[in-house]
Amino acid sequence: MSDCLFCAIVAGDIPATVVLETDDVVAFRDISPQAPTHVVVVPRAHHADAAALAAADPGLAGRLLAAGASVAEAEGLADGYRFVLNTGRDGGQTVFHVHLHVLGGRPMAWPPG
Ligand code: AMP
Ligand code: ZN
Repeated sequence: MSDCLFCAIVAGDIPATVVLETDDVVAFRDISPQAPTHVVVVPRAHHADAAALAAADPGLAGRLLAAGASVAEAEGLADGYRFVLNTGRDGGQTVFHVHLHVLGGRPMAWPPG
């Protein structure tokens, strides 16, 4: 999709520090990390948010989660981690290409802000 930051990263038009690539997802380090480990996992296909992805392609939604778990394992987050799927304005979403945040390396606060 034109004018989409994460489509541009998937296409290699904008650089990112990629940590995992599969046939249908790409994972890269967040440019503004909120924890010692902060990786975002995106499907190569453009879907606006988690709800749209789940409706259009639930198998891909599952593979997105599995890729997040692979990232967490590769990053050594054996003590736990947090998956976040900010959805919509009130959910704090700023990039409207669905992305799974993988956060770890410190205890996570609850409730989140
Ligand atoms: P969200 O607020 O859930 O939509 O998350 C968007 C995330 O993308 C934020 O955590 C940003 O720091 C991150 N981000 C924005 N631009 C880039 C970029 N060029 N490379 C990596 N991460 C980015
Ligand atoms: Zn996109």
